Amino acid sequence: MAQSLGFPAPPAGLGKRPYPNLLRPMNDGPRKFGYAIVGLGKYAVNQILPAFAECEYAKVTALVSGDINKARRLGKHYGIEESHLYTYDNFDKIAQDPEVDAVYIILPNSLHADFTERSFRAGKHVLCEKPMAVTVEECQRMIAAGKKAGKKLMIGYRCHFDPVTHKAIELARTSIGKPQIITTDNGDNTDPTDPTYQWRLTRSLSGGGALMDLGIYGVNGSRYMLNEDPIEVQATIMPPSDPMFREIDETIVWIMKYRSGAVAHGSASFNVNAMSRFNLQGTDASLRMDPATSYWCNSVSHCTTGDTHTWSTPMFTIPALNQFSAQLDHLAISVANNTPLAATGEEGMQDVRLIQAMYQSAHSGSRPVSTDWGDWRKTI
Ligand code: NDP
Repeated sequence: MAQSLGFPAPPAGLGKRPYPNLLRPMNDGPRKFGYAIVGLGKYAVNQILPAFAECEYAKVTALVSGDINKARRLGKHYGIEESHLYTYDNFDKIAQDPEVDAVYIILPNSLHADFTERSFRAGKHVLCEKPMAVTVEECQRMIAAGKKAGKKLMIGYRCHFDPVTHKAIELARTSIGKPQIITTDNGDNTDPTDPTYQWRLTRSLSGGGALMDLGIYGVNGSRYMLNEDPIEVQATIMPPSDPMFREIDETIVWIMKYRSGAVAHGSASFNVNAMSRFNLQGTDASLRMDPATSYWCNSVSHCTTGDTHTWSTPMFTIPALNQFSAQLDHLAISVANNTPLAATGEEGMQDVRLIQAMYQSAHSGSRPVSTDWGDWRKTI
């Protein structure tokens, strides 16, 4: 089933981090892998449900919502019968649904942990949106529940499935000299009248603000680009410009220091025109990504003095490639072939732990906080 389209192999040198094969090879299995989608909000309805049309191995087989009429409307559109529609109250019945192999949790952040545990208790695999959860303890519970159930836990880091990300990592490994400085900025404007922003402004549902929601792309991206984890972080939260931001960080800036000597500095904001930038300055050349983490049109430029080459999404030739369907297929392939996941619970937890360390720094006068946790994958 593997396609041979001349796309470069996944970049080597990612240490313990498996990287997804964008060619989606699968050994066998004509039956498609069934997903239940939990939470029919903006991301689920606008990005994930339509993406199943371009999946090779996955399909949507159940919907879970607090609004059964919305579930019925979408069920009709996607050919899902009433017997596969669930509410949050009767969700646990999904254990008896043979059409559901995995549950994809697309709820407000503070609900991720409970629904992950319920899904594992129902005997399903889990794909959970970023951020994995709002505390490290919740992440630990989620990982433990997956292990107990003998099921896989994947985190929704869609950018890992963008060929531009792969190209950037390949260039970072081979063509910039020694990585020195990362700059990463993510932000957007907030519309408080849009329900999708309301829970983001409420700490008990979001766990935090711009850093949790958008800055996480820079945190995860820096770690993957350098193939290294920071040993110290420092952060500053700017005073809110509007009372609607009183519970969460509207704008935050941070520094992450690495043992290699590299440093990443970043920002995230809920009160700027859309930004999604990632720059990596090496001793010999730099990489510029702008946009770096958008849904469709990312690009990476390799720049030396007087010479720039740019790669952007349309230049890659894998048909029907989009991050969402590649991500959905990845879990299906990992289960069928028993191959490693690209974005594990352990990786998701490391981002949450670093974000918590940044908040700790910001709430203690921007003091540096050590994140030198050794080989943290062994300590989980
Ligand atoms: P939305 O607010 O648009 O959708 C969330 C949905 O969750 C709601 O529509 C609702 O669905 C359900 N829900 C259940 N309980 C609550 C509650 N108490 N308050 C609000 N909603 C509730 O959010 P998004 O779709 O933008 O985000 C959902 C998750 O997806 C978040 O974790 C977010 O970080 C992540 N996300 C990831 C993106 C990515 O690029 N990887 C992009 C955007 C979001 P229903 O009415 O069906 O019950």
